[in-house]
Amino acid sequence: MERKTITKEKVVGMQVVDGDARLIGVVKDVSFAVGESRMYLVVELKDGKIQEFPWEDIQAAGDFVLLRPKPRIEAVAPTPTVTPTQAPAAQAQTLCPTCGKPLTYIQQYKRWYCYNEQKYV
Ligand SMILES: [Zn+2]
Repeated sequence: MERKTITKEKVVGMQVVDGDARLIGVVKDVSFAVGESRMYLVVELKDGKIQEFPWEDIQAAGDFVLLRPKPRIEAVAPTPTVTPTQAPAAQAQTLCPTCGKPLTYIQQYKRWYCYNEQKYV
């Protein structure tokens, strides 16, 4: 099995293409995290920012560095659920000004009736 190696000299200056075949920048350097065996590609992005990519993100390196397609983190938008506009019972009720019990609207007389006190308010 052929072992694929890539040297810093070779990779620096290479264009970096992401998993969606978009040119994202140019390799500026290779960095090593202290205390880790990880290596990072230091990439200057098109907007001039520097971003590090873990070495294992590299899918292939030839004329340019191809990064692995990233598992897309979908923005989990809450699905708008149509909730029936149901006002809480307490809000829908008109309370008796004297005893505080719910009143009943008597359509026939167009008045509010308190069953608790058995009177119109
Ligand atoms: Zn009442």
